[in-house]
Amino acid sequence: MSPKPKMGRPPAEKLRKRIVKLRKAGKTQEQIASAIKRTRDVVAYHLREAGLARRVYRESAPVKYGKRLCAQCNKSKTIGAFPSPRDAVCRKCYRDRAKN
Ligand SMILES: [Zn+2]
Repeated sequence: MSPKPKMGRPPAEKLRKRIVKLRKAGKTQEQIASAIKRTRDVVAYHLREAGLARRVYRESAPVKYGKRLCAQCNKSKTIGAFPSPRDAVCRKCYRDRAKN
């Protein structure tokens, strides 16, 4: 998955830098969105482009028989394998990501 080449220089570059800075300061996507007065989709987009979409706010998979799919490794895991019920990514994947 390589980033798509952009048509020209995106004027959003400054905005992205700001988003990245806020993200590194530990802000959530919602906090960043309200700080820059954009929607969370915009924030998520820029974090993805910057390779920082660590906390994925995509819909978590539905729970079936006490298990659900991890959005990262795509394995069916018990709910206890997720950091919180809202997290779409399992603990193991979180740890793997934290190493980077
Ligand atoms: Zn996983």
